Amino acid sequence: MNRVRFAPSPTGLLHIGGARTYVFCWLFARSTGGQLVLRIDDTDAGRNTQESLRSILDGLEWLELPWDEQHYQSERRPIHVRAAEALLAKGVAYRDFTAEGAAEAERGEGGPWLFNPGMRDLGAIESDRRASSGEPFVIRFRVPREQPGGVGFKDLVFRKHFRRFADIEDFALLRANGHPTYHLASTVDDGEMGITHVIRGQDHLTNTFKHILLLQAMGFDRPSFAHLPLLLGPDGSKLSKRRHGPIVSVTNYRDMGFLPAGFMNYLSLLGWSPKDNREVLTVEQLVDAFRIEHVLRTNAVVQVGEKPGETQVDPKAVWLNGQHLRSMPPAQLLPYVEAYFRGSGWWRDEFSGARREWFLEAIDALRSRLNLLSEFPVRCRAYFHDDFGFEPKALANLDRDGVRDMLRELAARIERAPDFTEQSVEHELRMLSAEREVKAGLLINGSRAALTGQPVGPSAFRVFTLLGKDRVVARLRAV
Ligand code: GLU
Repeated sequence: MNRVRFAPSPTGLLHIGGARTYVFCWLFARSTGGQLVLRIDDTDAGRNTQESLRSILDGLEWLELPWDEQHYQSERRPIHVRAAEALLAKGVAYRDFTAEGAAEAERGEGGPWLFNPGMRDLGAIESDRRASSGEPFVIRFRVPREQPGGVGFKDLVFRKHFRRFADIEDFALLRANGHPTYHLASTVDDGEMGITHVIRGQDHLTNTFKHILLLQAMGFDRPSFAHLPLLLGPDGSKLSKRRHGPIVSVTNYRDMGFLPAGFMNYLSLLGWSPKDNREVLTVEQLVDAFRIEHVLRTNAVVQVGEKPGETQVDPKAVWLNGQHLRSMPPAQLLPYVEAYFRGSGWWRDEFSGARREWFLEAIDALRSRLNLLSEFPVRCRAYFHDDFGFEPKALANLDRDGVRDMLRELAARIERAPDFTEQSVEHELRMLSAEREVKAGLLINGSRAALTGQPVGPSAFRVFTLLGKDRVVARLRAV
């Protein structure tokens, strides 16, 4: 069975690139019937923060793509230390007693990268003696120097890679303070956790040579590697919080009103696309279509919105989210709208209780023009609350000649009419416009403005029935 891991370091907010890696790991696991391990790479105690860990877990939970197992690397330190000692005992690693800061790589004339050659060649007896006398040391991997060769692998995305031993330095495994390095902890855990596929950012590609050497030395099977192309900002530089701001952090997308399925669809297309070039895909369709071999080798670009005042996120992300927002069954959408309404202090329990059916109809009618959940409160307040404002364009529709008068008359007729349906309202409105010899559009636009404060919205007669007779009559009268 395939086992893949996602291994974030809790040293910053969950980045959209990290989330993209997670989505690819998840899709790979699900589409091959495998398992996904979430491993928090928290070995660097000095740089870990609780805030970062929270952001990672919150962001991943929000995506609704569950993992199968979870580990904290820091809890496994004794295992990492034992592995380094075993390598030392086998002679595959050695102690370097030079002060850590002084241990600089030296590259001779095309020769091997050696850390303090004297240390590499120190006899076992001398090394043990210095260690037991309490002298601090770093444990380094002894990269084979004798034979010419090197390390090669076939990346599932980036194809064949090879590096000569002579170009790989004797990298550290255990620091003088007893902490394992990333290389050691990562490979020990990948080996012990039975990881079959390592899927991670392209920035780790060059680490893979070291990891293969280490895994081999420890007697583990070599997993397959798949490196994912980088994410760039619109300026062509590597996407970063510092340069590209809040669009880089995942929880911001949640707060902006994205649906997990919409955001995940967007992430899935950053560096991959299905054979038939579809763009709008549900989670199930993505699982069906995903193939790691089809990941692109070109960097993916995250665009930034340009219209002033609009959300600065990639317009494609907003568009894709709109596709999901409009096609999801309303009942499935309800919990997200509820969470968003609660956040804006708009929620009333009757929306999921006595008035649930009505609420679902309202969401269904309103969403046709929306892309983000956050637009429900901004653009649809009049449907859920009686105090709402008027947009200038809506006011202009009310200010046209005689419109207010006619709307008051319409209110009276609607009140008297025996029925209150889209058809009966339309009938009353058209009769009135014919009598007054004005275009029906004048009254249609006027009533939409009076009822919702907005110049646009769902079909005008639908607005009447959504609001219900009492509110319609009261609002038309109040113009
Ligand atoms: N903790 C590393 C990172 O966040 C993991 C890299 C890897 O997947 O091996 O970049």
